Amino acid sequence: MPRYAGIATFALLPQIHEVERADIAVVGIPFDSGTSFRPGARFGPAHIRENSRQLHPYHQIHETFLFEGRQVVDAGDFRVGPYDIEAAVASIEAQARALVEQDTAIVALGGDHTVALPLLRAAAAKHGPVAVLHFDAHLDTWDTLHGASIWHGSPFRRAAEEGLLDLEHCQHVGIRGGIYDPSELDDDREAGFQIIRSEEFQRRSVDDIAAQIRERLADCPVYISVDIDVLDPSHAPGTGTPEVAGISTREFFSVLRELRGLDVVGGDVVETLPAHDHAGITGLAAAHTAWELIALMKGPTG
Ligand code: MN
Ligand code: MN
Repeated sequence: MPRYAGIATFALLPQIHEVERADIAVVGIPFDSGTSFRPGARFGPAHIRENSRQLHPYHQIHETFLFEGRQVVDAGDFRVGPYDIEAAVASIEAQARALVEQDTAIVALGGDHTVALPLLRAAAAKHGPVAVLHFDAHLDTWDTLHGASIWHGSPFRRAAEEGLLDLEHCQHVGIRGGIYDPSELDDDREAGFQIIRSEEFQRRSVDDIAAQIRERLADCPVYISVDIDVLDPSHAPGTGTPEVAGISTREFFSVLRELRGLDVVGGDVVETLPAHDHAGITGLAAAHTAWELIALMKGPTG
């Protein structure tokens, strides 16, 4: 079958019901009711899958076959409605726990960044507090907005409050853009995060940045959360809250490819908004991101 034909599961992987058990499951979470600006990330999972057809099994840098010695599957989309955020988050958590309890690690395709909270609950239930490696233009450790405590700008604050994060080992990468008050940066430190700003990619080498990340994450269980708006809008126009002067896909993937050996237990790629995408630029970046996360995750064969 040519790669452009047939139903688009992620990377043309088998569906979960076609196998006996899964070590890693790619799941879509079509939920965007937590967004503060442009809506539409609910259509992200289907767009990312369609742009994942050209993902191949061999990783040239890691010199490994991604899908060898472990079962990687597409588990379809979580069932989640758009109207009640708290109910949706509880439902995502229950569906994520059902996978994690069967020793199936999750790589989630968002959806807006709200979905990271229930995914972190499931990851921490299995592994204890996790070190979060967070690629994003935005801090996402804010408190409430328009009276809501659960929205796409608060997942890591709520996670820190709930004891889901290892507060000595969390790391943001790519931060830039507007904040209302510098006290937001103090709150962010309290939530356990160090910051590598977008501007630092102009002055520092990729190796240097990757070394700082590795030192910070140490040998903790690591959850990697990627908001696609970490990329410059020229590299990811299809997103809900774009910010100028971001990093390039080459810088981003160069850093990711230096992180082999971390204990990555789960991850997500969120905030892909197909209605604002052009030529699949953002969908391709998101699909390749999920593929790189899978490459970093350990299977039964390590
Ligand atoms: Mn963001
Ligand atoms: Mn975000």
